[in-house]
Amino acid sequence: MQAPLELARELIRRPSVTPDDAGCQALIGERLARAGFHVEHLRFGSVDNLWAVAGDHGPITCFAGHTDVVPPGPIEDWTHDPFAAHVDEAGWLYGRGAADMKSSVAAMVCATERFRAAQPNHAGRLAFLLTSDEEGPAVDGTRAVLDWLGARGQRIDHCLIGEPSSDLALADTAKHGRRGSLNARVRVRGTQGHVAYPHKADNALHRLLGLMADLVAHRWDDGDASFPPTSFQVSNLNAGTGAENVIPGVADAAVNWRFSTLQSAESLRAVTEAYGEAHGIPPEAIDWHLSGAPFVTTEGRLIQATRAGVQACLGTTPALSTGGGTSDGRFIAPTGAEVIELGPCNQTIHQADERIPARDVARLSEIYEAILARLLID
Ligand SMILES: [Zn+2]
Repeated sequence: MQAPLELARELIRRPSVTPDDAGCQALIGERLARAGFHVEHLRFGSVDNLWAVAGDHGPITCFAGHTDVVPPGPIEDWTHDPFAAHVDEAGWLYGRGAADMKSSVAAMVCATERFRAAQPNHAGRLAFLLTSDEEGPAVDGTRAVLDWLGARGQRIDHCLIGEPSSDLALADTAKHGRRGSLNARVRVRGTQGHVAYPHKADNALHRLLGLMADLVAHRWDDGDASFPPTSFQVSNLNAGTGAENVIPGVADAAVNWRFSTLQSAESLRAVTEAYGEAHGIPPEAIDWHLSGAPFVTTEGRLIQATRAGVQACLGTTPALSTGGGTSDGRFIAPTGAEVIELGPCNQTIHQADERIPARDVARLSEIYEAILARLLID
């Protein structure tokens, strides 16, 4: 059996449900130390993180990812034990983390071992940033490691994240950015009353519906080459006592924007507050929570190396996408790093029977090595 698949299976057998690392990072740290890395285990709160560097000067190329996994859910929904790392006769590697993202982490470690053995005097520095809190609150994980690095004056130049970016076939898609996600809660206060005496009441729901209708109809932008148009969705709407003859005095809504770099949290807020005022809803009635700002890596060394690496190994070219949910790239990109996410197929992530083709682990490892060769050899 090939080394990357063997390591992926060893990691899957460690049940590292967020934030428990279950020994994954210790195992990886030993392997990296043997490959000449200076390894630091950073525990923030209840979260284990690992930062490792090889080389002492030059731009930092970093492999980033997480060792934690989401809970498996009911075991009886699985064809094979989620922590047994079973490979079936059809060649599927089953297990929680098989796609998201222990196979990528294993592929990265093995690619690094081979690359360092073949190119002991490579240019630049090679680093690993791993956390056990990507699937959870993500407070004491990647973000905290970046703060710690920043305090030491260190910065990542090129970052390859192993999140499962592929759609139908390995490396058919790489993510070069992510949309931003902004949440708001709107709470409108009016005056409750009898439906037969509307002049004596102030219907909070009517005002809220006016605002929601304006926001639904608003055309935020048309998107651009990297992003689809910004979208607005109402996720929750609550008002009313249940009685048919009572005008509601309070109404509230929860809403979310997925937005491109053509917008900012501030621009979305300004438009919303202006509509709100028109319906007698003051700015204080709206609570905002930005869960991630949008980011995009434009054409440059990392995108070129990624494309060339995939082309050399598979003969195909990955499509670049900003689709899907957020990732820890939202913390890394704002530090000035070029960020690309490239990993296995994401069809079964967070599901029962999470699985990928077992042979993709070694293929992914070869792609990672080919990308390293394009970034770390002058
Ligand atoms: Zn993930």
